[in-house]
Amino acid sequence: MTENAPPPTAPLRARAEIDLAALRANVRALRALAPGAELMAVVKSDAYGHGALPCARAAVEAGATWLGTATPEEALALRAAGLPGRIMCWLWTPGGPWREAIEADLDVSVSGMWALDEVTSAARQTRTGTPARVQLKADTGLGRGGCQPGDDWAELVDAALRAEWEGLIRITGLWSHFACADEPGHPSIEAQLTRFREMLSYAENLGVRPEVRHIANSPATLTLPESHFDLVRAGIAVYGISPSPEIGGPADFGLRPVMTLSASVALVKHVPGGHGVSYGHHYTTPGETTLGLVPVGYADGIPRHASGTGPVMIGGKWRTVAGRVAMDQFVVDLGGDEPATGTEAVLFGPGDRGEPTAEDWAQAAGTIAYEIVTRIGTRVPRVYVNEGQAG
Ligand SMILES: *Cc1c(COP(=O)(O)O)cnc(C)c1O
Repeated sequence: MTENAPPPTAPLRARAEIDLAALRANVRALRALAPGAELMAVVKSDAYGHGALPCARAAVEAGATWLGTATPEEALALRAAGLPGRIMCWLWTPGGPWREAIEADLDVSVSGMWALDEVTSAARQTRTGTPARVQLKADTGLGRGGCQPGDDWAELVDAALRAEWEGLIRITGLWSHFACADEPGHPSIEAQLTRFREMLSYAENLGVRPEVRHIANSPATLTLPESHFDLVRAGIAVYGISPSPEIGGPADFGLRPVMTLSASVALVKHVPGGHGVSYGHHYTTPGETTLGLVPVGYADGIPRHASGTGPVMIGGKWRTVAGRVAMDQFVVDLGGDEPATGTEAVLFGPGDRGEPTAEDWAQAAGTIAYEIVTRIGTRVPRVYVNEGQAG
């Protein structure tokens, strides 16, 4: 914590504190893990719920030379806010906005002929006459987006080269995405790398000269140096969360969770034994006890699937969601303790004050930590700490 950090005492119903010093340190740790490659900080979906602009700025300060988003709208918003450098977006649908993307100097991803046709015709219409920066995406085995190897790739590469010779586009990258990088040793990993090298060679032999070739996401950045090529695209690791507990915890890679989610206990009351708690009465007090009301619910992104299982730390003790998570609130059995109303309930954080982590919530809800942080709703204010570069 730096001296200028505002104390986390604002009397808010709930808050997601975002530690930008932790984010910057994570970016530096990732750069050290992939020293031969540039780092793209993936800030899609509002930086996985952490807030796109402050996180993008902090990532750039710490040495990320690329920013990545899913949609063009997300990328355009970064550029409009003044983010410099390279910004790439990959989730396109017919209709664009290709022209806006070209004029904002974005790198756009093209997976098929329809997209190449649209981006080249947009390039003809731009005021500046600047070629579109196009990255061709190969499906090396994920079976989701990307161009299939073989005839499809041959057709796409050939057409892209012709558009490059016409001055309409510049092929800035060749790239792909892993299916199972979070399962080290999974046979698909080597198979995808082999296929990627073949598809790169095919394009390069025809004269494609990409600035960057890339396939690594966070798990590959952390565990698979041979996948780093010229650029690694790290998302979840930037936010200090391990892509999978199987490959280790954040500390094993020098990472620290960036988000701490807390709420202010709204009510503490005595109830008798045998008292049903929350909708459906799926919890009944085993004896006389105290209940605490935590004023966040599934509208705030607290998974309803964590009813009866989600952990929260109140007054230094772990408590468990009693009964159902409702839209705006849930209840915990305080076992007779009487913390003052307004006491901080920490749902998750880095874990070093003994609090649960986003990974703990993921386990409680039967999902992954990516989903826990990304779904924290807009009703929860993000409070940024350690914004200065000192940390
Ligand atoms: C989201 C995304 C990433 C980042 O994935 P992490 O596992 O969060 O690092 C990288 N590349 C693409 C194409 C993505 O959609």
